[in-house]
Amino acid sequence: MKAVRFHQHGGPEVLQYEDAPDPVARPGHVVVRVAACALNRLDLFQRNGLERVTIPLPHISGADVAGTIDELGDGIRDFTVGQRVMLQPGLSCGICARCLSAQDQLCARYDVLGYQSEGGYAERVAVPAANIIPLPDHIDFVKAAAFPLTFLTAWHMLFAKAALAPADVVLVVAAGSGVGHAAVQLAKVSRARVIATARGEDKCAQAATLGADDVIDSTREDVPKRVKALTGGRGADIVIEHVGASTWDGSVRSLAKGGRLVTCGATTGFEATLDLRHLFARQLTFAGSYMGTKAELLRASEGFFGGLYAPVIDSTFPLHEAATAQRRLTAGAQFGKIVLVD
Ligand SMILES: [Zn+2]
Repeated sequence: MKAVRFHQHGGPEVLQYEDAPDPVARPGHVVVRVAACALNRLDLFQRNGLERVTIPLPHISGADVAGTIDELGDGIRDFTVGQRVMLQPGLSCGICARCLSAQDQLCARYDVLGYQSEGGYAERVAVPAANIIPLPDHIDFVKAAAFPLTFLTAWHMLFAKAALAPADVVLVVAAGSGVGHAAVQLAKVSRARVIATARGEDKCAQAATLGADDVIDSTREDVPKRVKALTGGRGADIVIEHVGASTWDGSVRSLAKGGRLVTCGATTGFEATLDLRHLFARQLTFAGSYMGTKAELLRASEGFFGGLYAPVIDSTFPLHEAATAQRRLTAGAQFGKIVLVD
């Protein structure tokens, strides 16, 4: 099959569109013909190389996949060849205590499709049958591929980690990002009041169309000051953070008394400081979050299929232009999801 692989770590120029071995449908597994595969920041980290994680080389990235079933391994009875599906990006053992108590994202063998396994920047990909989610006919492949990772991440952050309640004020940092644009929509359908930040006029306008009640242009406004002004001095009950060093201080200062900050990333830098007096006197809660459970993704999918929310497609690129697509993500030029199509 054709795939986009890298044989060494580096910039987007290391991505090569080339022949790769066809994946095999082992027992309990399914091979899916990829129609669309969305980009995520994880793809960039794998390509650049990580300090403590070994990425098997050559490597095929791609966590977010939609397509049709091509081949069934032994023992698969619930699916048929030709069936339209999207994939759960979280891989776990399925038999440990964590997996069996719906905490599969804490499994010792947890992996994300295309992280240490081979992913969807390819014509075909093999996954365990547990990772198959059948797709209704009215959901197209591009939207389906753009959905799983970011909506699962945002869902877990808002509902499992921050225990979102209807009247909460939620500050979503960088509403144009994958997680950000999902969090705005999920918080809105839950009747929260959503304040979003975005960079520049265009992205602010787009954040408003997602349903954000207020949008702060972080290129020219002081975020915590505006959040306080918009909430009568109270601040945000929940902050959804993933930008890291450049926004951390403003995110912490935007919190209301008793506020919860949940973070799932640190794109702009890993080091942050925290005034411990604020932590206890303001009774703040901080939580780290990574992906979510398979059960949560199934729940989140129901709302997607039912039309409550949907990923925004920034742009699509043919698979062989994956490097161009990754450059757009690196530049942060997108609003919503960038998707590779077959
Ligand atoms: Zn497990």
